[in-house]
Amino acid sequence: MNYDHILIRYGEMSLKGKNLKHFVARLYENVKMKLANFSNIQIKRNRSRMYILLNGEDPEPIMEQLKDVFGIQSFSLAIKSESEEEQIKEAVMFALTEPEDVKTFKVSVRRVDKDFPIGSQDMNRVLGGHLLSNTEGYSVDVHNPDIELQVEIRKDGTYITSKKIPGAGGLPVGTSGKSLLLLSGGIDSPVAGFLSMKRGVEMEAIHFHSPPYTSERSKQKVMDLAKQLTRFGHKLRVHVVPFTKLQQTIYREIPEGYGMTVMRRLMMKISERVAEKEGILSFTTGESLGQVASQTMESMNTINEVTNYPIIRPLVSMDKLEIIDISKRIDTYDISIRPYEDCCTVFVPSQPKTRPTREKINELEAKVDFSEELEETLESIEVIEFTEEAEQEDEFSDLL
Ligand code: ATP
Ligand code: MG
Repeated sequence: MNYDHILIRYGEMSLKGKNLKHFVARLYENVKMKLANFSNIQIKRNRSRMYILLNGEDPEPIMEQLKDVFGIQSFSLAIKSESEEEQIKEAVMFALTEPEDVKTFKVSVRRVDKDFPIGSQDMNRVLGGHLLSNTEGYSVDVHNPDIELQVEIRKDGTYITSKKIPGAGGLPVGTSGKSLLLLSGGIDSPVAGFLSMKRGVEMEAIHFHSPPYTSERSKQKVMDLAKQLTRFGHKLRVHVVPFTKLQQTIYREIPEGYGMTVMRRLMMKISERVAEKEGILSFTTGESLGQVASQTMESMNTINEVTNYPIIRPLVSMDKLEIIDISKRIDTYDISIRPYEDCCTVFVPSQPKTRPTREKINELEAKVDFSEELEETLESIEVIEFTEEAEQEDEFSDLL
């Protein structure tokens, strides 16, 4: 006997009532894509569970992959037996004695199939008694057992599981619409993208760079971050915006101290045009309140004036250390800390105003005509698409 299944438990989506079917279908597709390299497995689903039939595949690497799929609350190795008393006894015996270092156990039966002749409570006693009288050195501990053997008796068979492995939680990516992630090479924005995806949001990304002031290496760093994020969302298209001309104009025309705010507003305007074109309904940024000059309440208010699209800011109330912690967990940290020049730091004054008002910025912007350069910039956006396995480069010079 051996574990022949992985049982997947749904998270919050199990509360979705009439829409559940749609969530399960999306999770199924996401799991299937994630496990595409395991050719022998089969995936089955119903309203409350998903099952992976291993068909001889090693479960360990599969479980590693499942940890990155949003919408999964937890999963466990499972043995499937016929819903027959003797076979269930045999399977729980295996599940109890297979792991080392187990002394105490608890059996928890859930009889989903009411045609099964023994009730859940009685079956708990039957199985517990069977284990105690056929083994040595084990005892029952209902409060704090070394192992909890869960037995789900269903029509199509009985699933016996032991250890519960926590999943990524959240909602399946693709069930909450699309957002455009403003992706820099820093620590914060990849984490923001990850957290947005956790709520089921599918992502595209936009990155502003200023060649030749920012190097090919700094662009590559952002591409590596994008690639890393495909681990959670399967694919990510990145819109790379050449920002040099607009930045030079800002540098020339806008008094020092206000350039950063004007630049952010232009980023928002460009992002909105890309979102419109792609049918994307929101933005996601790595902003965290009070972290730097562009993230004070006044800056946010003034920058936000140019768009009425919702801006998702998953990090808004997090401390830097909490953000770093997540970036290490999702393996973006080591990429983010590579040294690089950022388009925002190349041109931006060392002392940006921390309290730019809407009135002041509007007054300054009214003196400069950005429109022609803005259209030119939109026309030279490059789109690079990453998928979890491969990467291909497509250039659409006439994007808009
Ligand atoms: P990050 O670590 O994400 O770069 P940060 O702490 O450096 O953030 P800022 O530089 O003020 O903060 O940027 C705030 C947010 O603006 C970023 O999290 C990101 O969403 C967006 N952003 C900044 N620079 C760029 C860029 N070059 N391209 C696209 N988005 C950017
Ligand atoms: Mg930054």
